[in-house]
Amino acid sequence: MKTSAPDTHNELREALRSLCAEFPAEYHRKHGAAETYPEEFIDALTSAGWLAAMIPEEFGGSGLGLTEASIVMEEINRNGGNAGHCHGQMYNMGTLLRHGSAAQKELYLPKIASGELRLQSMAVTEPTTGTDTTKLKTTAVKKGDRYVVNGQKVWISRVQHSDLMILLARTTPLSEVKRKSEGLSVFIVELKDALGKGMEIKPIDNMVGHETNEVFFDELEIPAENLIGEEGKGFRYILDGLNAERTLIAAECIGDGYWFIDRAVGYATDRVVFNRPIGQNQGVQFPVARAFVDIEAANLMRFEACRRYDANEDCGAQANMAKLLAADASWKAANECLQVHGGFGFAQEYDVERKFRETRLYQVAPISTNLILSYVAEHILGLPRSF
Ligand SMILES: Cc1cc2nc3c(=O)[nH]c(=O)nc-3n(C[C@H](O)[C@H](O)[C@H](O)COP(=O)(O)OP(=O)(O)OC[C@H]3O[C@@H](n4cnc5c(N)ncnc54)[C@H](O)[C@@H]3O)c2cc1C
Repeated sequence: MKTSAPDTHNELREALRSLCAEFPAEYHRKHGAAETYPEEFIDALTSAGWLAAMIPEEFGGSGLGLTEASIVMEEINRNGGNAGHCHGQMYNMGTLLRHGSAAQKELYLPKIASGELRLQSMAVTEPTTGTDTTKLKTTAVKKGDRYVVNGQKVWISRVQHSDLMILLARTTPLSEVKRKSEGLSVFIVELKDALGKGMEIKPIDNMVGHETNEVFFDELEIPAENLIGEEGKGFRYILDGLNAERTLIAAECIGDGYWFIDRAVGYATDRVVFNRPIGQNQGVQFPVARAFVDIEAANLMRFEACRRYDANEDCGAQANMAKLLAADASWKAANECLQVHGGFGFAQEYDVERKFRETRLYQVAPISTNLILSYVAEHILGLPRSF
């Protein structure tokens, strides 16, 4: 399929495609149905250095940009996998890299780059406050050389397959700060020192076989040196990382989108009903063609977001718009692909229903479509704040 995005990364794509080819559809289907973590696939990506793509060379990574990192994510999804099992490593590391102390970077980044440690988890969302992040209720209170954490998080992904977790907690009560975004702090939690020692998890069974959990903190002690950056500035640090996260997720949706188009075109060409391939009917062609056009447009915005991020230009608008366009485009492509497959779209062996469920997530997480529209309305169009 010829696509219109500028593409000068053929070698990178070829290397990923050959790694992905070692993990055929049956592998991902088995993990999807059994809801187990694709450990061997993630190990292979780690050993090949792909999950350390954005770690600077001085810490043992490849020092690549967001453009390349986004291609890694895209290719995983484009080749039938689900980058949701490992994308956290790409963007969580950024919080440490940009705001961590020299000692923290020295301690963790080389081990993350080599695969010795995984930084796959970030704990922000809470059950009673949802998207209204600055109202979160988990507290971290400094006592001597420790912070003591109490509270609860929900939907925290990959905790069972990570060694480290980024935690956002309130260190100054909301009633004592001038702006609600102040008084929140970010910590790096060493999970082996936390699980069963003040931190408990309860896995959430869910529609996409995604390893995600409720997390409970009861007097969890974290060494004070695990505070990232300055106390009280954590919300800004988390926001900083979101542009990368949104752009990477956009790339995953683009990968899904092309996968759906490939499958839809293949099936529409081969399936003969009424003595002709179903794809000869314009009623079948047009929705697939339109879905392809939408993916192409979203892809251009994704590369623009990457370009700006890599050039250290402001990319908030483009990252948000890329996420919205790509999530909508992949969802539309998923729906059309399922429709083209008729009844067979519902059979697990075609993988369409699995990818359909997986790509649906991105209308909601890591940020819902409404919240992106709200960002565009307020920050780009200058409309009055609604919350
Ligand atoms: C599989 C999965 C994995 C996840 N992994 C993580 C993770 O690793 N770490 C983490 O911290 N979080 C994670 N999340 C949480 C995810 O980021 C949130 O679910 C998402 O941000 C939406 O928050 P919420 O579920 O609390 O919805 P709410 O905030 O309760 O919103 C519910 C709905 O109402 C809409 N809405 C709310 N307020 C407004 C408004 N003012 N205007 C218009 N519409 C509004 C929203 O758009 C949404 O559709 C994950 C979620 C899922 C499902």
